Amino acid sequence: MKLGCIADDFTGATDLANNLVRSGMRVMQTFGTPTATLSSDVDAVVVALKSRTIPAQEAVQKSLEALQWLRAQGAEQIYFKYCSTFDSTADGNIGPVTEALMDALDCKFTIATPAFPDNGRTVFKGYLFAGAVLLNESGMQNHPLTPMTDANLVRVMQSQTQRKVGLIDHTVMARGTSAIAEKMKQLQNEGVGVAIVDATSNEDLKTLGPALKNMPLITAGSGVAIGLPRNWGLQVSVNASALPKAQGYQAIVSGSCSLATQGQVAHYKTSGLPSWQFEPLLWSAAEAHAQMKADVAKALAWAQPLLAKGPVLIYATTDAETLQKVQAKLGREQASEWMESALAQVSVGLQKLGVKQWVIAGGETSGACVQALNISQMQIGPQIDPGVPWCFAPNHTAGHLTLKSGNFGTPDFFTKALKVLNTSTKATA
Ligand code: ADP
Repeated sequence: MKLGCIADDFTGATDLANNLVRSGMRVMQTFGTPTATLSSDVDAVVVALKSRTIPAQEAVQKSLEALQWLRAQGAEQIYFKYCSTFDSTADGNIGPVTEALMDALDCKFTIATPAFPDNGRTVFKGYLFAGAVLLNESGMQNHPLTPMTDANLVRVMQSQTQRKVGLIDHTVMARGTSAIAEKMKQLQNEGVGVAIVDATSNEDLKTLGPALKNMPLITAGSGVAIGLPRNWGLQVSVNASALPKAQGYQAIVSGSCSLATQGQVAHYKTSGLPSWQFEPLLWSAAEAHAQMKADVAKALAWAQPLLAKGPVLIYATTDAETLQKVQAKLGREQASEWMESALAQVSVGLQKLGVKQWVIAGGETSGACVQALNISQMQIGPQIDPGVPWCFAPNHTAGHLTLKSGNFGTPDFFTKALKVLNTSTKATA
């Protein structure tokens, strides 16, 4: 393994893995730190943690466990991945985790930049922009868990770390890789431990890449990844995303109520393919558990005779108005918990019926299904839409899967995804 990555949430991990694959690396993503040794021959592993909003000490602990495992597997460089909007609580966790990793790696200097121009995240003079506006005007100032009220990353990072924070600004970036390397040396001589890096284009990230070659630790969003594979002589190649040939039946399980997913469900239904809808509004608060179980059985009985003919869609996706009614009737958390449990049970049932090609819509829904299907590792394959690749769970009957978080994907995502899987794996099998 060349690059060992630690991501502070699941969908962010896939986003990073996707960028590495597109730049020429063969990548495995794991859910949590594995207990066993790495079984596949890959260039990078992304250990996905859920450490963004947990207490800082716990985040440090989990990140150090991941680090230890990655080093034991031979990782030559470590990449700590956080959100492209630098999501952090008042206590961190970006600063404390960065410091702990630097201490463990005996690393005196590292960078920090969430820049990801392809997704509209740019850093200029140390200020983070989301699209055309500063981070603290982008809606992120109202985020329920990680409100970001200051766009100045030097200040934000300095409030989270004992080490001195500096800046490599756009004027240095414009002068190229050796100027960046020179500036890094200068900052280090001035006692700086962490440097925020300006980047407003993919070119900036590609110029930055070679300057990071001998750095034991990189901290960044997923953008910096595009400049790294070349440090190992790796070029963009379809081989990086090659997955085994797809087999088994196809199913789409959707528990996302985001607008994009609502559109995808509607689009799929107009194509005349079979679908089955959970309607929790028909459940009563007192009987919901039993009614949910009965509906799971109904959904599976409905799907069984259809699977041999093509994909089936089983969904709970609904519009905001109905969702509100369900939540008012059953309780917000309880409704989510039951729906996630229902879709997780549906996926286990479908797996027993022979489904091996999965499209799963919804971040929380994906988490519930992946856990129920007992998937702990997946190899990252070709991209379907920005940020959403096909994956393959090796040594496991689950087969191929794509995990789509709420607002990702074009309206025809469900059918397109299955088409992409079957053409791309046929070509590379
Ligand atoms: P997204 O990625 O769009 O946020 P998630 O799966 O993370 O999707 O979250 C959607 C949540 O809404 C899940 O907890 C899911 O179980 C719940 N949910 C889905 N459909 C319904 C429904 N019809 N009624 C109530 N809750 C629902």
